[in-house]
Amino acid sequence: MADETARAQVAQAGGDTIFGKIARKEIDVKLIHEDDQCVAFSDIAPQAPTHILVVPKKPIVRMSEVEDSDAALLGHLMVTAKKVAKDAGLTNGYRIVVNDGPDGGQSVYHLHIHVLGGRGLGWPPG
Ligand code: AMP
Repeated sequence: MADETARAQVAQAGGDTIFGKIARKEIDVKLIHEDDQCVAFSDIAPQAPTHILVVPKKPIVRMSEVEDSDAALLGHLMVTAKKVAKDAGLTNGYRIVVNDGPDGGQSVYHLHIHVLGGRGLGWPPG
């Protein structure tokens, strides 16, 4: 997806995406975690036995648009990723991924952290 297409889609949705709707609970999704800053839920198309998304309530479009003032929020998302991985029983390790933009394979333009585990994961990724 080209950058321009992604921007047009986000703009068309009023700066919103499916993850914004989930974070605001306009769509009924079973949440694994919720606090004042973020939610976590299972990926609809899991790429590993455990595949959880950690999504900030603040609608940040993508990693490359994060601002200095988002540093504490990003730290919170990482700590939350660690907690949901622990709660999911990923004692043998896991991978945390953030895809950014077309080359990074981002498909939903609301920042999110993937937590993947439950099997050995290859490296490098495709
Ligand atoms: P990315 O490609 O990094 O933008 O990741 C977007 C992820 O969101 C993909 O792994 C999708 O499978 C997942 N996804 C898309 N829509 C939903 C949804 N409604 N509920 C849960 N996961 C979703």
